[in-house]
Amino acid sequence: MPELPEVETIVRDLRPALVGRTFREVRLRHDDVLRGVKRAGLIRRLTGATVDEVSRRAKHVVLRLGRWRLVIQPGMTGSLFLVNGVRPSVETRYDVLTARLDDWRDFVYRDVRRLGSLLLLDESDWRAYDAAIGPEPLDPQFTPEAFRNALGRTRQVAKKALMDQRLLAGVGNIYANEALFAAGIDPSRPADDLSPEESVRLFDEVRRLLNAAIAANGTTFRDYRTATGQPGNFQLELLVYGREGEPCRRCGTRLAGTHALDARITVFCYRCQR
Ligand SMILES: [Zn+2]
Repeated sequence: MPELPEVETIVRDLRPALVGRTFREVRLRHDDVLRGVKRAGLIRRLTGATVDEVSRRAKHVVLRLGRWRLVIQPGMTGSLFLVNGVRPSVETRYDVLTARLDDWRDFVYRDVRRLGSLLLLDESDWRAYDAAIGPEPLDPQFTPEAFRNALGRTRQVAKKALMDQRLLAGVGNIYANEALFAAGIDPSRPADDLSPEESVRLFDEVRRLLNAAIAANGTTFRDYRTATGQPGNFQLELLVYGREGEPCRRCGTRLAGTHALDARITVFCYRCQR
């Protein structure tokens, strides 16, 4: 699923196009992506609403419309973009939500496998939602001490802890693998066993990687596209993710892969991450 850098890229593309625009007409093709809101309520509240703000929280796009927030979690196959004019039906086939704007463009959430979700939250639901998610790693207020405290709160292995959205927002499998390699930390180490130095190193690498990935418009492995339809470029800079069995770029050892830590692939170097 798109992680922090990919969603941040989408948000940066959407923001200038959406802020200040009004949803004239809203169409929802499938109800199965809705969480905690019904079709009629969603359409009623979105129609005529003006987009005040477009932001990101963790791996989700957040549109603030007056006192409501539309939270879009694009799943593995989800994309968000704006289009002008009529599209052929082959292109609209996987549209989930379409909002006609007052400048006659369409804001589209498309999702081939519909693994994503849509939430519509009022102020108090938003506060609860926001409070359940950990700190944003790129928040200037976020410190190595706060990161260390978060890791210290769990016995989970380091890789799972990095991906636990309650402890840290926005990091998923790709950037967790990369950060642990960059910091030279064995992904199977218990998170609360990391030394202060290791924890600072991991903190620095997480931030460096996320910033570098945003600068490259994210990582495209399969479906991810920016809101302007471009693939990301950070896949060219990945050192471990997707490279199981290939030589480590640092020491030449064959990179190992395992599904034993969580259900996802963990790729690492036995030598560099001892
Ligand atoms: Zn190595």
